[in-house]
Amino acid sequence: MKLLYSGKVRDLYADGPEDDADLILVASDRISIYDVVLPTAVPDKGAVLTQLSVWWFEELGALVPNHVISTDVPEAFAGRAIRCRRLEMLPVECIARGYLAGLGLKEYEKQGTVSGVALPPGLVEGSKLPEPIFTPTTKAPVGQHDEFMTFDDVVAAVGADTAARLRDLTLDVYRRGAETAAANGILVADTKLEFGRDASGEIVLADEVLTPDSSRFWPADSWEPGRPQFAFDKQFVREWSAGLDWDRTPPGPEIPADVVAATRARYVEAYERITGREW
Ligand code: ATP
Ligand code: MG
Repeated sequence: MKLLYSGKVRDLYADGPEDDADLILVASDRISIYDVVLPTAVPDKGAVLTQLSVWWFEELGALVPNHVISTDVPEAFAGRAIRCRRLEMLPVECIARGYLAGLGLKEYEKQGTVSGVALPPGLVEGSKLPEPIFTPTTKAPVGQHDEFMTFDDVVAAVGADTAARLRDLTLDVYRRGAETAAANGILVADTKLEFGRDASGEIVLADEVLTPDSSRFWPADSWEPGRPQFAFDKQFVREWSAGLDWDRTPPGPEIPADVVAATRARYVEAYERITGREW
């Protein structure tokens, strides 16, 4: 297999030399905070992310076509990889937000809008938005940060029809995902999707979907606007790193064992609560 690309968390291989060979998308146990990959792995994280994505792709199958072919992958990657169709990826990170947090909050505090979408005054950290909004960003190369795009920017990048389709699919997936997760006590504050085009030109959901790495999951029972919310994924790592003398540039610090264990447990808990399955 040929390694095509190594991202912060995932590695993408071609299963053969042909241009149209299947891809094998492998989730590693690497963890990144503030866009910096830390030197310590979180055991089972890659498998949890892959299994949760596979579950969602199936769950959302009637809503949007996806890139999954099967989970038939080389033994070394079993459980943490999928075999998928090779797509021409669209240069937009398709984000939907139902609550205000992260960069969306920062942007709102600066100018009252996110990705050009005007929001009512008086919202605070963690506020529920009047309705879910589409807040796309650029896909920055490794080492750089993504930038907000307005809807017009997306139109300029991919054309009006594709832009409208990306927006509608992103909001549909968010609404379905948020509803499913809410039934299990998890709020999906926001989520990031990636789409590609297949050989016939159809828009297909790719990458990972509704995982703790691509989304902000909050326990519904402790949600309280006006303060940072408890995040299901990297909360322990972020809190621990805040106490260090680290400037958030590479190289990142080693994570202590108790923080690794607590983080692994949160990933597993998100999987179990959403899918209703035991890990
Ligand atoms: P991050 O997600 O941490 O911001 P990243 O997107 O650079 O970083 P990964 O998510 O680790 O890196 O890598 C996955 C890569 O595979 C992404 O670049 C994604 O666009 C690409 N990809 C996912 N599915 C497909 C597909 N079906 N066809 C082609 N490329 C794909
Ligand atoms: Mg990615």
